Amino acid sequence: MTSNLHLSIKHLLVLLFGSITLLAALPAYWYVDHIYAAQLIRDRGESLNDAAKAVAAVLATNLQERQREIYLLAQSNLFRSAQLNDTELRAVLDRAKASFPQYSWMGLADVDGVVRAATGGILLGKNVQARPWYSNGLKQGYSGDLHQAVLLAKLLPPEPGGAPLQLIDFSEPVQDSHGATRGVLGAHVNWNWAASVLQAMQPSNAAQAHLEILIVNRDNTIIHPQKTGADAVSPASLNSKLSFSQDEWADGVSYVSSTVPVLDGKSDRTMGWRIVVRQPVEEAFQGLRSIQEVLLITAVISGTIFLALVWWGAVLISNPLKELAAHARSIEQGNETQPLTAPSSARELRDLVQALQSMSGTLMQRKNALAQSNAVLEQTVTARTAELVRSNEELHRLSRRDALTGAFNRLAAKERLHAEFARMKRAQIPYAVLMMDIDYFKRVNDTFGHDTGDKVLQAVARVLQIHLRETDFLARFGGEEFIALLPNTELHSASEVAEKLRSTVALAPSATGHPVTLSIGLAMATPNDASEDDAVHRADDFLYRAKNAGRNRVASTELV
Ligand code: GH3
Ligand code: MG
Ligand code: MG
Repeated sequence: MTSNLHLSIKHLLVLLFGSITLLAALPAYWYVDHIYAAQLIRDRGESLNDAAKAVAAVLATNLQERQREIYLLAQSNLFRSAQLNDTELRAVLDRAKASFPQYSWMGLADVDGVVRAATGGILLGKNVQARPWYSNGLKQGYSGDLHQAVLLAKLLPPEPGGAPLQLIDFSEPVQDSHGATRGVLGAHVNWNWAASVLQAMQPSNAAQAHLEILIVNRDNTIIHPQKTGADAVSPASLNSKLSFSQDEWADGVSYVSSTVPVLDGKSDRTMGWRIVVRQPVEEAFQGLRSIQEVLLITAVISGTIFLALVWWGAVLISNPLKELAAHARSIEQGNETQPLTAPSSARELRDLVQALQSMSGTLMQRKNALAQSNAVLEQTVTARTAELVRSNEELHRLSRRDALTGAFNRLAAKERLHAEFARMKRAQIPYAVLMMDIDYFKRVNDTFGHDTGDKVLQAVARVLQIHLRETDFLARFGGEEFIALLPNTELHSASEVAEKLRSTVALAPSATGHPVTLSIGLAMATPNDASEDDAVHRADDFLYRAKNAGRNRVASTELV
């Protein structure tokens, strides 16, 4: 569980430097996305503003020229004094129309609104009293906003493509030399004039950059180029006081645009047109996107190279460490002869290897020294243990011997009895128990002293030992009482042995100079016995009987 949380040096370094790369790249990206973007929009707005100003200036000059042309004509002597239907006056009108191809019609109406002179004779005699150019032109110079042709529509040649004829109007009052009104001089300019002006002003990359030059009237309607429905309405927020603005238009597109008013005459006679140059924000950001792309690609490439270098560096650091760990593990598993190495050019790693080398050397020395002292200790322990075993054996032997006679003692007799009884039970082989007691021994002590008594005891034991078989067992059972066990011996043979022992002792020379005799009780151990003590008690009983029967005799089952 926790091991999953332990990252390798490689991963740690890559994580660290990856984060650093991100931290370094993010501010640059943020700068481009925010500050540089705002700067870009500002620059774009400024250049749109320049274009709008230029177009507005040209358009204004054009409009003023038309207004002035009409004004100059109206002020001429011919118009002030000649008959309204004078042929020369008509000729002047025709020449004026011809001088500016976008004039669709020029004409002069009298004070009653009846057309008295007109280019091409069109509308002659027609009453134009209701037309705004006429009614407004009676009082002062007038320029009229774009409108669809009413009377002229059918009288003039059709527009290319069958589009409705659209006109703007200019008019001036015509007065005589006394200032009395004679009529109104009017001119209709074909709207395609605006198209040709704007066309001429169009920047060369306009289509490619989706740049559009619009003419917007005071109702916020786009009057050029021709648009329909909601698309023909510009946002009311367009503000000609700011050099540029960013708005969403009716077509759902967000534009950066610049609005410049067309100063077409004195303020009270202006048509309130504005030139708007707009470009979709997306388009303006085109440069930004490519810079962001370049930045992103550069960041990814340099980041990848950087991380690869970091990875390589991490491998250079971690590989020797891994090797070192593997070596250390191998040494731990017993491969002690393998030298500790880790090829690395890093000084710290070489220092580490040297330190570990000397540490492992020291540990090895200590381990060997420990092993040596262990071996010595083991030898000592083995020797001491053998000694102890020997001592124990000696102790065992001594503890089972009688110090005076050298025969086995009572403890040894008890053990032998136990073993013999078990063997008899197992193999059904009988054994005989002889209980032997020196007769009137107290008298020996009393008469000859204790030392002589001891010598008598030693002599009796020696005689008994000599006359018993190798396989027989003799022990001093009490003060002057001996016990003999005769394995694998029947009652008959045992009786003979007992008799032989009795007679041999009785005949043997003694330290007292008097014969020493034995009384002997003989009993056979039988498989019916509950314990080894049963036969001993019976032998004791027979010894008692031998004593009672006069001593220096053998008593047993048969013999009683
Ligand atoms: P009995 O014929 O009925 O056996 O008479 P007894 O005198 O031999 O028997 P009792 O039991 O009256 O005396 C045994 C004596 O053996 C008493 C004791 O002083 C003596 N005695 C026991 N152990 C030793 C010993 O190690 N050395 C010597 N010198 N005397 C011993
Ligand atoms: Mg006794
Ligand atoms: Mg006795």
